[in-house]
Amino acid sequence: MPELPEVTVISEDLRELAVGKEVVRAGIFRDDVSNAGVAGFPAKLVGRTLEGTGRRGKIITLDFGEVTGVVHLVISGRVVQLPAWREPDKTHTAIVEFEGGPVLAFKKLWLGYFDLYEPERVGEHPLISRLGPDPFSEDFTVEYLKNVFKRKASIKGLLLDQSVVAGLGNIYVDEVLFAAGVHPIRKANTLSSLEIEQIYSATRGILREAIELRGTTFDSYHDAFGETGKYQHRLKVFTRAGEPCPVCGTEIRKSRVAGRGTHVCATCQPVG
Ligand SMILES: [Zn+2]
Repeated sequence: MPELPEVTVISEDLRELAVGKEVVRAGIFRDDVSNAGVAGFPAKLVGRTLEGTGRRGKIITLDFGEVTGVVHLVISGRVVQLPAWREPDKTHTAIVEFEGGPVLAFKKLWLGYFDLYEPERVGEHPLISRLGPDPFSEDFTVEYLKNVFKRKASIKGLLLDQSVVAGLGNIYVDEVLFAAGVHPIRKANTLSSLEIEQIYSATRGILREAIELRGTTFDSYHDAFGETGKYQHRLKVFTRAGEPCPVCGTEIRKSRVAGRGTHVCATCQPVG
């Protein structure tokens, strides 16, 4: 599933491809792809110009002036460019054609969606209304983390919780906790100030580097130009079970924490 870096890359790709262009055709395959419905989707989009793109957590926002597209690519959702218009189908679930190209297909939105909102109501979207601070926002500070980490919950579970920090998922939480030297099962309220500072700086540093390398591809993720990311070559623990830790040589082990496959070096990330 695309996390903050991958969603940032796709959002920036869409800006490069289509900002300033007018929508000439649009469609969705079935009513459950968008809150606008099969008839409302083109009715609300055709004739509008894409004015900008953004990101809220793992959600792409598309600014069409009086309408905002809210796109959630869950698991295998992708954005691809088509050579020409085609009718939406169960693979190409939403399609938007811009004047003079591109024709963008939002593929496999079966668990995700391409909702259309009035701009002033985007904050009421069920996923957006509950988002915690973005890691690159001014609200994301060491003090903020110290406050939310007063809870007894596992640190991994808290970092995955979008209402605590917006945009992190399984890949980057494992990498952040390894970089910070913190075991994922640690209770947040047992972390030292130093460990919290390390989680804070690892979060920003790793996400920034992953965006520069255009994200991580280990399953279906590709950018809007069809290219894979390159951060998978920098992963230190995620998907590396059975390999030696790049820091100390201890074998990286995979277990389940917070319901997710979790990769740990038990030497670099002691339990306590
Ligand atoms: Zn190690």
